[in-house]
Amino acid sequence: MASQLSAERAARNESVFRNANERIEQRLGELSLLDGRSPFLCECEDPLCASPVRLSAEEYEAVRAHPQRFIVVPGHGAGEAKVTRSEGYDIIEKHGAEGRVAADLDPRQGGADE
Ligand SMILES: [Zn+2]
Repeated sequence: MASQLSAERAARNESVFRNANERIEQRLGELSLLDGRSPFLCECEDPLCASPVRLSAEEYEAVRAHPQRFIVVPGHGAGEAKVTRSEGYDIIEKHGAEGRVAADLDPRQGGADE
């Protein structure tokens, strides 16, 4: 089914940015920005989007605790199943086929180990 294929592609794009953000978080101690908020990459499904989203390590961890949630620039999650607005960023939550792909690709669930 075409829609399922594009859904899987979208979830994979988002997961690529999530993996990049995992590496950023590992270096937060070295970056130590003044306001405690660090630039993460927008995790929307646009493969060309590299917009920064600023949030604290605690906020990042709260989102990352859920394998089907992604951090995006406000408005970039338009059309997603569920969007939670927070200060300076939105949290989108994947369901159905996309949610399963996102959970499978979550580096913290062991699904992305090569
Ligand atoms: Zn974006």
